[in-house]
Amino acid sequence: MSEKLAINGGTPIRSEVMPSPYPGASAYGQEEIDAAVEVLKAKSPFRYYGPSAVLGKAKEFEKSLSTYIGVNHTLGVTSCTASLVVALKAAGVGIGDKVIIPACTFIATAGAVVAAGAVPVFCDIDDSFTIDPKKIGACVDKYTKALIAVPILGNPCRMDEIMEEAKKYNLMVIEDVAQSMGSTYKGKKSGSFGDLGCFSMQINKMISTGEGGAVCTNDPKLYERAVRYHDHGMFREREGFLSTNAADDIFLGQNYRMSEITGAIATAQLKKLPGMIEHFRKLKKIIVDGIKDIPGIQMVRVNDPEGECGCTTQFILPTEEKCKEFIDALNAENVRAFRLYGGQPIYMVPQIMGKRTVDPNGFPFNQFDEEIVYTPEMCPVALDLMARTVTFTIGVEHGEQEAMDYVNGIKKVAAAIL
Ligand SMILES: *Cc1c(COP(=O)(O)O)cnc(C)c1O
Repeated sequence: MSEKLAINGGTPIRSEVMPSPYPGASAYGQEEIDAAVEVLKAKSPFRYYGPSAVLGKAKEFEKSLSTYIGVNHTLGVTSCTASLVVALKAAGVGIGDKVIIPACTFIATAGAVVAAGAVPVFCDIDDSFTIDPKKIGACVDKYTKALIAVPILGNPCRMDEIMEEAKKYNLMVIEDVAQSMGSTYKGKKSGSFGDLGCFSMQINKMISTGEGGAVCTNDPKLYERAVRYHDHGMFREREGFLSTNAADDIFLGQNYRMSEITGAIATAQLKKLPGMIEHFRKLKKIIVDGIKDIPGIQMVRVNDPEGECGCTTQFILPTEEKCKEFIDALNAENVRAFRLYGGQPIYMVPQIMGKRTVDPNGFPFNQFDEEIVYTPEMCPVALDLMARTVTFTIGVEHGEQEAMDYVNGIKKVAAAIL
């Protein structure tokens, strides 16, 4: 006989709801406070000039992220969505181009491609929830210019196989590392494999400044294009403000500049990231060891168990019905779990499936001599796996007790319903 589930009136595993993890912001302490206050006291919130000497906080963050990721150049920007647009434009992606993105990613990856004037092509995932390198080739046609790889929820992509495919088809590679800052694949940091890497510091991500992002690259030309696009075509460190003797390849840009306050807090947060990852991985090990042998549960494959952030645990159940039932029962036990993106590939949202953009006449989907066709079945593995996968995240406020609550909650629910 299994224990009576909380959803059926039994006693829940936890008396209180599991705290929601917001890793970076929950780790705020005196360091972040001092960092922000220093900028405010100096009256110098803008990175290039102001009423008193510039402290160089955005620059300092860029240097520390370059060192941490292992790249030559980093540019701080206002968000990861901004960083994706900047990276795509730096890479030369524009109107009439297609960009391959995985079926399992946040909507921002697709939105950034459209903002760059291009259209997304959805590539299926495998049992790691990341892009299936074997399916990239079939997504390529004469319009395809770039590929965005997305390490999902701390799980790195198999970047060696992805880079090999990209080389075959002459694609620029951008890594959207929004969810996985600090993850590594075969000892190398996510974001350092492709032509450009993009990062987020929004509230849900590994480190947080509320909003914020960064673009990394080893290529000085791409870096220069990124700097120009993010700052009205300017490259102030070299040419000053609105220089008239600018380089030949100057162009009009936008404003995605990082503030000094963001830069200062980001530097303080980055120092805490290795400790956070160590904490998450320790707790995830307790959870995985406790649940991996439960019959009916299949753990989502981690592409490099040595390199994951450990912030998320995912397991696949036999059917969608069982998955929904399982999640409702777990939540009633006060053990928080959910289906990622509502249990569907991201292209199922009406904006993408309906190719709806802010522009009239379906721009940029109308820039091809063929119709762009999206169907629910275009990525069958994502459609199947996302519907029946349980996801939950671990936070800095979680300890061994919360890890054991997950183990016991999942065991209890599995015994009753699987
Ligand atoms: C959160 C997220 C983004 C967008 O990041 P923002 O900083 O909020 O713009 C992009 N891609 C993925 C995969 C994300 O999870």
